Amino acid sequence: MMPDPVDQYAVFGNPVSHSKSPLIHQAFARATQQQLTYGAIEAPIEGFAQAVNAFHSAGGCGCNVTVPFKVDAYELADSLDDDAASSGAVNTLKWSKSGQLLGFNTDGKGLLRDLQDNLNIELAGQKILIVGAGGAAAGVILPLLGSGPRELSVVNRTPDRAQRLVENFLPQASGRLSAATLDNPGGDYDLVINATSASLSGQTPNLPAGLFAANGQAYDLAYADQPTAFLRWAITQGVNHLSDGLGMLVEQAAEAFFIWRGVRPVTAEVIRTLRG
Ligand code: NAP
Repeated sequence: MMPDPVDQYAVFGNPVSHSKSPLIHQAFARATQQQLTYGAIEAPIEGFAQAVNAFHSAGGCGCNVTVPFKVDAYELADSLDDDAASSGAVNTLKWSKSGQLLGFNTDGKGLLRDLQDNLNIELAGQKILIVGAGGAAAGVILPLLGSGPRELSVVNRTPDRAQRLVENFLPQASGRLSAATLDNPGGDYDLVINATSASLSGQTPNLPAGLFAANGQAYDLAYADQPTAFLRWAITQGVNHLSDGLGMLVEQAAEAFFIWRGVRPVTAEVIRTLRG
């Protein structure tokens, strides 16, 4: 008798060779004794849907989606979870037994797990600032609102974009969500989250001094071997509690793994290994 084929997963991006997702999911599979393969597939910029469908025809069970295909994945999915629907972006796809393509966005849950479980940051009652209004900011607003902050503000280099993003979430915000501007963002923030891509090019958003409350925390969704430009700027503002987004990366992957396999992997060892 032929053995059952091994379940196949992959991350789709362009470029994708830098992605840490194969390392992370292979480590999860070993730790949870799940039989699967996980690869990286560079889809042509105009050929995401075709590449994903070909992967499914060849036995693919699910995939992760990274830059620049998260909106393509949102449009391709037959159904969406709340975080994908509200953010307009999908980072995890799964084919159901009947062949339906289910779309999820696990970024927000990943961020919350890293903040609350790994970094022990209490979010309830806090004053929080999100810098940036792109796909990542859109994905974390609803989960952050669910964690009970006192105030959540959004600022962006292009202010209209922050305004439009905030307007999308006002019905769920109970008066706690507002847009401000980079040059006048308010102050006394317990937590400032950099959701811009500025750190990827060694830049920092043009923020004024006086942003952080005493004991305020700085979190950059970007991650690197050295402190990111935003975290280095936060140090000049007297901030002692700093974190980059590596933990979020592993946690959003764990959430995707759970969606596919029904098993929640332990993340601490994987985060330690990647940091090492
Ligand atoms: P995106 O959709 O391209 O949005 C980019 C955002 O950055 C926009 O708000 C843009 O402002 C702003 N920006 C870019 N350069 C800037 C600069 N020099 N100064 C000020 N603002 C600047 O990107 P994204 O998908 O939201 O990703 C944002 C970041 O999150 C990236 O670093 C990405 O790697 C990271 N991320 C991390 C994880 C994780 O698991 N750790 C998950 C998702 C994303 P404008 O609107 O004015 O252009």
